[in-house]
Amino acid sequence: MNPSLSSLLPDTPLPLPFLFIITGVFGAIIGSFLNVVIHRLPQEESIVFPNSRCPSCTAAIAWYDNIPVLSYLLLRGQCRSCKTGIAIRYPAVELLTALLYVAVTWRDGLSLALPFDLIFVSALVALIFIDAEHMLLPNAITYPGVIFALVARLVIPLGGGAPHFDDLEPLTRGFLHGMPLWAASVIGAVIGGLIGGGSLWLMGWTWEKLRGIEAMGLGDVKMMFMVGAYLGWRLTILTIFFGVLSGSLIGIALMVRQGRRNMQMLLPFGVFLGIGAIAALLIGSQVVVWYAGQFG
Ligand SMILES: [Zn+2]
Repeated sequence: MNPSLSSLLPDTPLPLPFLFIITGVFGAIIGSFLNVVIHRLPQEESIVFPNSRCPSCTAAIAWYDNIPVLSYLLLRGQCRSCKTGIAIRYPAVELLTALLYVAVTWRDGLSLALPFDLIFVSALVALIFIDAEHMLLPNAITYPGVIFALVARLVIPLGGGAPHFDDLEPLTRGFLHGMPLWAASVIGAVIGGLIGGGSLWLMGWTWEKLRGIEAMGLGDVKMMFMVGAYLGWRLTILTIFFGVLSGSLIGIALMVRQGRRNMQMLLPFGVFLGIGAIAALLIGSQVVVWYAGQFG
C-alpha cells in the first residue's frame, strides 16, 4: 500500500504484527497520559502532580485501576471507591490513540519520521478533545507545537532517507530548486504555517464582518499555523477542506435536529480541523495525487 511499508519488511528485526502490538500498547499508555492533559490543562492544573484521582470522590487511583482500556472494562466503568461512572472519554481516548499509533506506524515504518508523526498525532488528539469539551485550544499545546513542527521540518530532512514531507517534492521542483533539502523544508514549514494560520484568520475575519459576531478564536489560527508548518501547504489546504466539510455536515445535522433557534450555536471547529489534519497526515498525499490525476 505504502512504499515505506514494503521497504520496512526486509530489514526490520521485528515481525510486523509485533511492531503493531508494541506501538498499539505504547499508544494506549500515551492515550492515558493525554487523558490527564485533556482533564487538567484547561483547569491550569499541573500535569505531573498530584497522582490521578477520581474527579467525584477524589480517592487516589491505584496503578492497577489505571491500566489503559482494561481497567475501565474490569471496573465496569465505575470508580472502585464511590461507584460513580467513569467518563467513556477515558477508554475512548486510550483506544483511539492506540489505533492511531498503529496507523501511523503502518504508514511510516521504522523511520526517523515515525516518532515525530506520533507526537504530532498526540498533540492533535489532545487539542480535539479539549476543544470538544471546553471550546478551547490551549496555547500550552499550540505554541510548543509550532516550535516542534519547525524542529521536525529541520531534523527529518537532515537525517536523510526519503523526503518525508508532502510539500518538499513540489517545492524543490519549483521555486526552491537547488536549495538544500533541510532549508527548503524549513521554508516550506513557514509557507504552510502562514497558509494554515492565514486561512483561518481570514475565515474568522470575514465571518465577523458578515455576521457581526466573533466566530473563531485565535486558537484555531494558532493550531492551523502548527498544522500548516508540519504538514506543508498542500496537506494544509486538504486539512481545511476536510475540516470545513465535516464541520458543515455535522453543523447542518445539529441544526436540523435542534431547529432554527440554534443557528448561532458555535461549533468547536478545532475538533474538525484536528480530524482533518490526522486524515491528511495518514492519507493526504494519496488524495492529492488522485486529485491531480483527475485533471491530467
Ligand atoms: Zn470515586
